[in-house]
Amino acid sequence: MSSKTFFQKIVDREIPAQIVYEDNQALAFWDITPQAPVHILIIPKKPIPQIELATSEDEALLGHLLYVATQIAKKEGLNDGYRLVVNNGAQGGQTVFHLHIHLLGGRALGWPPG
Ligand code: AMP
Repeated sequence: MSSKTFFQKIVDREIPAQIVYEDNQALAFWDITPQAPVHILIIPKKPIPQIELATSEDEALLGHLLYVATQIAKKEGLNDGYRLVVNNGAQGGQTVFHLHIHLLGGRALGWPPG
């Protein structure tokens, strides 16, 4: 049985996704259960399970993922603002253990989050 996460399977093109961006380090695709008119996930191709497990070697990669998120937001026309979210661990609400940044936009988002 494969121990790959769903997201690693998307990177490896083993399961489909609506991919909006790809480079040698990152992949971005629409969330399958969107929580806003725009809900895109930005992931590293490197299978880091969660942000707390990133190492100092990953610093530039983490910055790259954030930058990619800003470029996708621009491309999606989110000129009135948007939110970037990283859920970490059980209490952070993480359900898929392959690091991902949620890009949410297209409506006014409440605060504080649930
Ligand atoms: P998190 O709760 O932060 O771990 O977020 C996981 C996100 O992945 C959720 O918003 C899910 O809707 C989304 N998701 C799970 N499986 C897939 C999939 N196969 N393709 C796209 N998004 C997915």
